[in-house]
Amino acid sequence: MLTELKEEEAWLRNYHSKMLQMVVHKIDSNRKVLNALRMNDYKIGKMNFIGEEDYNSFTYSQSGFRIERHGNTDLLWLSKIGYIEIRLHRHPTNIKQITIVRRINKWYALICCEIAKPIFRFINPKKSVGMDVGITKFLHDSNNSTIDNPLFVKKMLKSLRRAQRRLSRRHKYSKNRLKAKTRLQILHERIRNKRLDFLHKVSTRYSKNYDVIFLERLRVSSMVKNYHLARNIIDSGWSTFKNILAYKTKLVIEVPSNNTSVNCSKCGNKVPKSLAVRIHKCNVCNLMIDRDYNASLNIKKKGLLLLLPQGLWEATPVEILSESVKQEQNIVQRIVVHYRSIEETV
Ligand SMILES: [Zn+2]
Repeated sequence: MLTELKEEEAWLRNYHSKMLQMVVHKIDSNRKVLNALRMNDYKIGKMNFIGEEDYNSFTYSQSGFRIERHGNTDLLWLSKIGYIEIRLHRHPTNIKQITIVRRINKWYALICCEIAKPIFRFINPKKSVGMDVGITKFLHDSNNSTIDNPLFVKKMLKSLRRAQRRLSRRHKYSKNRLKAKTRLQILHERIRNKRLDFLHKVSTRYSKNYDVIFLERLRVSSMVKNYHLARNIIDSGWSTFKNILAYKTKLVIEVPSNNTSVNCSKCGNKVPKSLAVRIHKCNVCNLMIDRDYNASLNIKKKGLLLLLPQGLWEATPVEILSESVKQEQNIVQRIVVHYRSIEETV
């Protein structure tokens, strides 16, 4: 299709072939996703033409790029574009793909590299932790430590609203409108950066201290339908947090979320409570602890049962096949676990 298009539209020859292929690929995969959603009875609109102003990225895949160092400057060479001075933060090797992204008035190059990973990793089930994520507290873990939720959007809400109001009062296509738009975009960018920084700090701390992290599987998309909570849920960035954790930690396992806040973590008795009740109080075993702490203990318990048969938690180390760490949607990750028998470790 592209070769025919090039016959008609000569200007397309000014662009690198792989880059154009990726544009076609992007449109095609978007269409496939939309069709799949439509088949599942989601309400889908039509795909829109993206104007120059809103088209913010392009990708060079496999070929057409090079990174060179001349004296003290790093240069990125892109076919049909030429040399661009860049600020390199790490030294990438075995580059597979480069995506150039425009964010507000800055340009970034996202570099994808292929890295060989060890097939087996040793994990110690004793170095495991369960996490309950929430809105008031960002998380409560099974060692009873908590992290507050910074809720960055909430803090900036006043200035965001002001910027949004200013934008909507400006005339369409005017210079002042563009200025107001940039201001709003900068505010959003600042929030995004702060949130990402926070998520990286928290996830690094956990992945350094633990081999295995158990999380509850959350259905964020169905939760945001509750519009009283929607903004704060999105603001918390749980899905991003999960993704970051998954690549930093040796093993992240999601457990089914049923009954984690109801069951008593000590005796298994069911203690139903509304969201407003913050304390878990069991009248069978007299356990009285924070409700989120109780939930995180349940999450850890469920997770360990998925990882190993009961009674083998002490038998360490465990070897896992790293291929299996890849996320699989809606199924608890299939994990190939090779644990040594008790006789072997004794
Ligand atoms: Zn109990």
